[in-house]
Amino acid sequence: LCAVFPGIAGVRERTLIAVKPDGVQRRLVGQIMQRFEQRGFKLVGLKMLKASDDLLSQHYRDLQKKPFYPNLLRYMTSGPLVVMVWEGHNVVRTSRLMVGDTNPAEAHPGTVRGDFSIHISRNVVHASDSVEGAQREIQLWFSRKDLMDWDSCDHSSTYQ
Ligand code: GDP
Ligand code: MG
Repeated sequence: LCAVFPGIAGVRERTLIAVKPDGVQRRLVGQIMQRFEQRGFKLVGLKMLKASDDLLSQHYRDLQKKPFYPNLLRYMTSGPLVVMVWEGHNVVRTSRLMVGDTNPAEAHPGTVRGDFSIHISRNVVHASDSVEGAQREIQLWFSRKDLMDWDSCDHSSTYQ
């Protein structure tokens, strides 16, 4: 469809972003996706699902012992999620900045959490916190065939 651009190798970083059940309920999916599109990131995976306890216990494996974990599990299984994979240069770090602090009270205005949420137990969105974490989470939520390798025609307008 369009030429493969030089330098494309450096922009293949991927991250997992999920709109949590509160974000879906509050019809924020479109606005959240729009922020990643307008920033210039490329959507390479997208699905809506109700997550199982088992999947979430793997996703949040480092939080199992936290006192809030039972609440978190109840929240995350309370309705469907919209799970996405976004690709681009530095996408893991940049999307954490776009999502804002875990606690909405600390999240700056202009971030997803800073614009759309108040309380840490309903903070609208998930974003992977490291490149290694992103790879692990993407494998957990998506099979390879459901991730799209495609070249965006505006690549040279987004990257040098
Ligand atoms: P994140 O990477 O910014 O989402 O934060 P963490 O990985 O530390 O925690 C995962 C999720 O657990 C957060 O997004 C919150 O929904 C929830 N969470 C984290 N810390 C707390 C807490 O102290 N209290 C409650 N109720 N929920 C928390
Ligand atoms: Mg986290």
